[in-house]
Amino acid sequence: MGPRVSAFRGMIGRGMDLQAPVQFVKGVGPQRAAGLEKAGVRTAEDLLLRFPLRYEDRRTFTRVADLRPGTRVSVSGEIVVAGLRRARRMTLYEIRLDDGSGKLKVLWFNQPFLRDVLEKGRRVALYGPVEQDSPGSRLLAMRSPQYELLDAGDTPGIHTGRIVPVYEKVGPLTAKPLRRVLTGLAGKVPSDLADPLPADLRARLGVVSRGEALRRVHLPAEDEDLEALNRFRGPGHVRLVLEELFLFQLGLARRRLARRAQRKGHAFEVTDRTREVVKRILPFPLTGAQRRVLREIADDLRSGHPMNRLVQGDVGSGKTLVALLAMAIALENGYQAAFMAPTEILAEQHFLTFRRLLARCPYETRLLTSAVKGRERKEALGQIATGDARIVVGTHALIQQGVEFSRLGLAVIDEQHRFGVLQREGLRKKGYDVDVLVMTATPIPRTLALTAYGDLDVSVVDEKPPGRTPIRTLRRPASARREVVRLVRREAEAGRQAYVVYPLVEESEKLEDVRAATEAAAEWRAALPGVSVGLLHGRMRSAEKEEAMAAFAAGTLQVLVATTVVEVGVDVPNATVMVIEHAERFGLAQLHQLRGRVGRGPGASTCVLLAHGRLSEVAQARLEVMAATEDGFLIAERDLEIRGPGDFFGTRQWGMPSFRVAHLVRDRDLLEPARREAFRLVAEHGDALPAPLPSFLEEGGWERRFGLARVG
Ligand code: ADP
Ligand code: MG
Repeated sequence: MGPRVSAFRGMIGRGMDLQAPVQFVKGVGPQRAAGLEKAGVRTAEDLLLRFPLRYEDRRTFTRVADLRPGTRVSVSGEIVVAGLRRARRMTLYEIRLDDGSGKLKVLWFNQPFLRDVLEKGRRVALYGPVEQDSPGSRLLAMRSPQYELLDAGDTPGIHTGRIVPVYEKVGPLTAKPLRRVLTGLAGKVPSDLADPLPADLRARLGVVSRGEALRRVHLPAEDEDLEALNRFRGPGHVRLVLEELFLFQLGLARRRLARRAQRKGHAFEVTDRTREVVKRILPFPLTGAQRRVLREIADDLRSGHPMNRLVQGDVGSGKTLVALLAMAIALENGYQAAFMAPTEILAEQHFLTFRRLLARCPYETRLLTSAVKGRERKEALGQIATGDARIVVGTHALIQQGVEFSRLGLAVIDEQHRFGVLQREGLRKKGYDVDVLVMTATPIPRTLALTAYGDLDVSVVDEKPPGRTPIRTLRRPASARREVVRLVRREAEAGRQAYVVYPLVEESEKLEDVRAATEAAAEWRAALPGVSVGLLHGRMRSAEKEEAMAAFAAGTLQVLVATTVVEVGVDVPNATVMVIEHAERFGLAQLHQLRGRVGRGPGASTCVLLAHGRLSEVAQARLEVMAATEDGFLIAERDLEIRGPGDFFGTRQWGMPSFRVAHLVRDRDLLEPARREAFRLVAEHGDALPAPLPSFLEEGGWERRFGLARVG
């Protein structure tokens, strides 16, 4: 267990420790402990960190004489009649409860053991629904209420007579026994438990102590705010969630500190000459956001620390240009720059863009993908090794063996979410202490960015280039295809272009899928006489793909029937229509990316979401979000709500941590203060954090705690 145990040494009852095996918690025992362990509960603390699902107000008892049907209430009184009946295949245990104001009929089904628990003459407190005994009857009854025995003079306290926490079953412990166990355990948590949150921080955030928090989540005070509890914002919740997020951010802050201490980066210079070069490259004035982000990058590049920055920017916000200008700084300082894109199509496109924009600069730019073969490849590798190739644009082919840079200074990774974390590291290792810029068009909610990429600095391009008109988004059934064909024809006649996308998964494009796309292209050709319609899918040879893409970019192809190979990055500003077939099959992030292929120029654009068949509720919700907003960040937040953070964008490669009490959607408001405090603490104390904090962050323990062992 290591030193972390001692950090939490707090005695429970007679010598019990929060880190003690759950077996020793009163009411658990060895058999249930085995089942609990399977459910991830090993210690008493693990159990305490299981928040109730919700809380019910069972503080006041209603008089039987005042009961009304359709309410949930607590009542208490004496059992004056009791009897077990068997009716057909079930048993019925029925009592009459007398509280002095009247008698209430109460029933339980198939719980014959109640005969021995709720005996005539016992006093009992009940909580449950009050109903008419039978339709139209004036007699009232309670069915299957929660019950709690009261001894003479006793006040109820576990299941009734207070704000009662309602639990989800954990392993073998169903809701009610779990409540009994946790009520007992929480009552024994001492107030002076070792606390990883320093006192000044606690005061600043206004949070209760660790011990009090663990207690109050399960034993809310009599006057606790019920509504806050049910939003997971009771004082106990806030404190424990903040603690977890704080510890997580603290690990990130320390990791960043260590990296800075270990490695010295290049300190690039930004001179007047560099500024001249930047001006020469610029095809148009930068937006304010582009300028700000470029300045943040330049500050990193000038500092002696290796840059590690994420540039977030919605589709079409103009990240490519910012990256190119950053590369120009590295080049002007005598270094090489690498630019890695997730697909060949994209690498090719960026290569051509860079060549065009660098036409008046003396930088040799090379393309390296798996499509570059033979003599051409040998030549490229040679130039990369000698340093003659100043900019190398490529796919993951860039990080393969045999690719040796002479002086790599800056590595840019476009569409970072398409790569694994390990690939980011791979590119970093191609140059010693290389500056790294990762870009993502996938709108990550800030809370997620801070979490998944918490050790990176984040810049946001939160403005689109001027002159863009909003994209009109239409939801149509498949039967409306004629209307869609008309729309595409109209745009083609006006000199515009269109994409028609089919939902095939590029890596696994099966022959039959390819045939479907091919057939679709033929259908569109037949429907649009005189319009040139091309086809693009992942099974085509690289040269064919390049040719199709180049023809579309040049405008000689007017309509491109494609699979999702065009999903990210593709930039043809003259395209104004995006038709998405089987839109119901795409995730929100994908839909947003696809829609982002249009609306890139001055022309008004339309995105048509064609849905086939009856939609599931989730699909319906997604299409509604798409129709309602174009804001990628809003869409991502909604996606997060619909799918939950674990599933975010259908991938786990983000390196999302696993939290025990924090929830990234529900608790996003607490993430920023947690991060601020963690980074402040590390800034103040550096490596020597005050006790008992180091015991949480000791070697490997932090990664294990948050399930991050492999993230680089
Ligand atoms: P993304 O951020 O999605 O990668 P791109 O870099 O592909 O966006 O840029 C989208 C389009 O906007 C491109 O056609 C690009 O040339 C254009 N663009 C970028 N910056 C500007 C700007 N400052 N003014 C006008 N157009 C711009
Ligand atoms: Mg891009």
